[in-house]
Amino acid sequence: MNKRNFSLLLLFTSLLGIPVFVCYEILNKLDAKSVNTTQVVQNKPQPIKKTPEEWKKVLTAEQYRILREAGTEAPNGKAYQEFKHQGAGTYFCAGCDTELFSSKEKFDSRCGWPSFYDPSKAKNVTTTVDWHLGYPRTEVRCAVCDGHLGHVFTGEGFDTPTDKRYCINGTVLKFVPAEASVKSLKDKPGHTHKAK
Ligand SMILES: [Zn+2]
Repeated sequence: MNKRNFSLLLLFTSLLGIPVFVCYEILNKLDAKSVNTTQVVQNKPQPIKKTPEEWKKVLTAEQYRILREAGTEAPNGKAYQEFKHQGAGTYFCAGCDTELFSSKEKFDSRCGWPSFYDPSKAKNVTTTVDWHLGYPRTEVRCAVCDGHLGHVFTGEGFDTPTDKRYCINGTVLKFVPAEASVKSLKDKPGHTHKAK
């Protein structure tokens, strides 16, 4: 190869290198963008942590037993009777005011506890396997305060879109009727916080 041809080859390869570099940069940026989008979608609620003493200050004894000690309210209790007569509205966690369920997913399973076929905000609810009764059940917890809410059962044949029954302790749900604002939650008479 003579000197001129070598110079032309060098020029050609360096010109080719620019678009390759540009493409590489664009692909890199696109990749970074898709990673960021995934992070936003998977953005999990920030957990709230309190000591047992702090929880006892904001919960009734029964709410504490259910939320913090994975207790279960008696079937067909006061909270369930109220639940049956509640109209359109939203159900919030009694421990941390996070939205969990809504009347849209509520159904009458006649099991004695409030039933929903799905959470209204899936990211606010977590599930784990619990062996408290010697066989596996899927426990439902609040994703924010990690409070025990109840259990979810599948394949029971209910005529609902998911065939799931979120069997939830009504004692640890705060109901806010559709017409009331979240701001007035704490001023509502009959809310489930312990009276001071
Ligand atoms: Zn909570």
